Amino acid sequence: MALTPTLEADVLRRQDPEMADILLGELFRQSTTLQLIAAENFTSPAVLTALGSPLANKYAEGYPGARYHGGCEVVDVAERLAVDRAKALFGAEHANVQPHSGSSAVLAAYAALLRPGDTVLALGLPYGGHLTHGSPANFSGRWFDFVGYGVEAETGLVDREEVRVLARAHRPKAVVCGSIAAPRHIDYAFFREVADEVGAYLIADAAHPIGLVAGGAAPSPVPYADVVCATTHKVLRGPRGGMILCGRELAGRVDRAVFPFTQGGAQMHAVAAKAVAFGEAARPAFAVYAHQVVANARTLAERLADEGLMLVTGGTDTHMLIVDPAPLGVDGRTARGRLMAAGLVMDTCPLPHSEARGLRLGTAAVTTQGMGEPEMERIAALFAAVLREETDGTQVRAEVREMTGRFPPYPGL
Ligand SMILES: *Cc1c(COP(=O)(O)O)cnc(C)c1O
Repeated sequence: MALTPTLEADVLRRQDPEMADILLGELFRQSTTLQLIAAENFTSPAVLTALGSPLANKYAEGYPGARYHGGCEVVDVAERLAVDRAKALFGAEHANVQPHSGSSAVLAAYAALLRPGDTVLALGLPYGGHLTHGSPANFSGRWFDFVGYGVEAETGLVDREEVRVLARAHRPKAVVCGSIAAPRHIDYAFFREVADEVGAYLIADAAHPIGLVAGGAAPSPVPYADVVCATTHKVLRGPRGGMILCGRELAGRVDRAVFPFTQGGAQMHAVAAKAVAFGEAARPAFAVYAHQVVANARTLAERLADEGLMLVTGGTDTHMLIVDPAPLGVDGRTARGRLMAAGLVMDTCPLPHSEARGLRLGTAAVTTQGMGEPEMERIAALFAAVLREETDGTQVRAEVREMTGRFPPYPGL
């Protein structure tokens, strides 16, 4: 078994068998359990090759044609390609592909538009707001005055009335829409209208759905938001990293907010890998993939509901499901532990309007492996059987091994 799809991977085994074993162990774990973490995916061998390339050696502070370092003529071409592909893929006037992560992209968006102490309206953390949406443990909560809106207890959808009331009362400088736990599409036109009414910027944090947007399986925030922040490693299936899209007028401010304000040298191997991923996402096969991700999530949601589990918002439009296991007599943490032991890997998450925790899962990774609706039905049945303790973990693990064996994430490795 090779360690990675990159050239000369066995160099590592010869030099450092201890670390080679760790890498192999992680490949084995990813290949033999079900990766149902909503934010994860399997990036392609081409993307991994770019990540493992000598571009990792290059210092490139600045932007193409305006670097602080010499010898950037080749990596400049890589970054221009990444920017052009991102602009074309999302129909954006400007793209910055340097943010090291989704959080770095959000930090830069705030830096571009806000001053410390400004008021920002965003989804509250108990309802799916990200750490960068005002957590006191994060720079956002420390440096800005966040006001949180919520979701309706009944529907699990954004409480529009509350958004309007809070916007009028607090006159925020920016409104943030985006969530780590939204199974349904976000109504960007609604948020644009609210932001316009109070003269606020609209920042869309589309870290989760941006891959569905690329594949035409979710509405795009680009025509509505002043700034769109995203990750490249979730449904989009690229390298771990971030990205910002915006209009021409904010391009300079966004670029300066990324470098030199919040970051140093760009990671050119990651930038190149982003370009490769954008190239993949522009192909018809990726649109098929994105729609299959949603079809799989819907099937999984329906079958889990049939098994008696509760789904926040009653189902899903995206890759993501928020599940309350309470009807089967287990809390979120116990459920995650049992599922984990059986080889189904996922997260817990807060449940809106409840003290209890639920489960958050997604279909991006298993769909990349080639799994379809029959496998989702099987996963839902295993899921419920594990929670009801109708079967022991080892039996389910064996079935998971069999299923993942038929759909290897990296065939041939
Ligand atoms: C994943 C996510 C982020 C952060 O991405 P990192 O790369 O982990 O920093 C930010 N906002 C939202 C809404 C996310 O889902």
